[in-house]
Amino acid sequence: MEIYDHPTFRMACEQFDLVADHLEIPPDDRARLKYPKRSMTVALPIHCDDGTTRMFTGYRVQHHLTLGPTKGGLRYHPDVTLGEVAALAMWMSWKCALTGLPYGGAKGGVACDPRKLSLNELERLTRRYTQEMIPFIGEKVDVMAPDMGTNEQVMACMMDTYSVHTGYTVPGIVTGKPVGIGGSLGRKEATGRGVGYLINRALDVIGLEATGCRAVVQGFGNVGSVTAFSLAKYGVKVIAVSDAFGGLYNEKGIDLWKLDEHVNNTKSVVGFSGAQAITNPELLELPCEILVPAALERQITNDNAGKIKCRILAEAANGPTTPAADKILDQRPEIFVIPDILCNAGGVVVSYFEWVQDLQSFFWTETEVMDKLFRILETAFAQTLALSKKQKITMRRAALTLGIKRVAEAKKIRGLFP
Ligand code: NAD
Repeated sequence: MEIYDHPTFRMACEQFDLVADHLEIPPDDRARLKYPKRSMTVALPIHCDDGTTRMFTGYRVQHHLTLGPTKGGLRYHPDVTLGEVAALAMWMSWKCALTGLPYGGAKGGVACDPRKLSLNELERLTRRYTQEMIPFIGEKVDVMAPDMGTNEQVMACMMDTYSVHTGYTVPGIVTGKPVGIGGSLGRKEATGRGVGYLINRALDVIGLEATGCRAVVQGFGNVGSVTAFSLAKYGVKVIAVSDAFGGLYNEKGIDLWKLDEHVNNTKSVVGFSGAQAITNPELLELPCEILVPAALERQITNDNAGKIKCRILAEAANGPTTPAADKILDQRPEIFVIPDILCNAGGVVVSYFEWVQDLQSFFWTETEVMDKLFRILETAFAQTLALSKKQKITMRRAALTLGIKRVAEAKKIRGLFP
């Protein structure tokens, strides 16, 4: 499967192979568990504001169809490739299975820099991508959601384009859309609040009080910023944050409300007067209790895994830690890792709630949503921790084992086709 070759895809495969060995999955069953069921690459020409026509490339990977429709985000980022999207789709499969959702994993992406596109160009690109995907998606087939570089407005454009095609409104075609058109209360905050909840559980496990703990958050977008606010509510002091343009550090704690205002005005954390500048590599190695990578893949590597100085590594991003870094972390039992497929699962869990509400046209209160979210996260956390202790394996290995085993069993029951 050379078409998927990419460092992130290799990383996802390496994680899968280790767990497949651990579960003793027969060699004949491995390839169809590992490789995507379907993948699409589409050409997306759009008219730009300056009168030129530009072509972008878009992808969608549906990893498996065994348990229901596929589900996963859509990413807009210059480095998006088919291999990266395939890795993210694979992780979505294990994440949905770990949390007991009736979905296979999927992911989509467009190689573009959304910050360099006007709102009109972004809308044209989103509508074009949706149009090209129409034969392959549907509320019972494949349901998209926001990811890096996309947001509620992008989801609204997708839903509208799809609904124009069908001739009636289909809110269940995407999740993470605005509440006013069928979105769920709490969806925008779900991933970050879930990360905050799980960090709090991890603090209990290692016997630390939230008050007095220091947190460092890489990436101050949707997930990173909500995580930071959520930690602040638990009494944690957020001492450093960053985005694609640079980082900030204040050992006394950053005023998140003022920072949020600054980011709303300038679109970056850089230049905020309440903290000093720090580089992203420096930020990852700051002494703290809680380190939250909430941006890109492959941030904790062979080079810095021995140097990070936290007690909890909460993987809000997908795939932030490489397998080589994992080997180093295995030798550092003082660090409690909340693996990505568990740590950031709050987003897809509330996406599932949104989809259910859309299909039923019956909407829940935010309290109902959050209560149900925390119950699911609690169960997944408890099961992962219990397996990790019972089999003396890492939290990552335990979470992946639970997810992969459930998909493998479903495939065995259904047969060769799905
Ligand atoms: P976002 O676009 O809202 O924010 C991403 C942030 O990361 C931005 O602040 C950006 O400037 C920053 N960033 C980009 N490159 C960086 C770099 N090299 N160093 C430091 N910061 C950098 O995206 P998001 O939705 O918050 O997603 C962040 C991560 O969380 C991604 O890995 C995504 O896959 C994962 N995730 C998101 C959701 C969700 O519900 N949005 C759910 C699960 C997982």
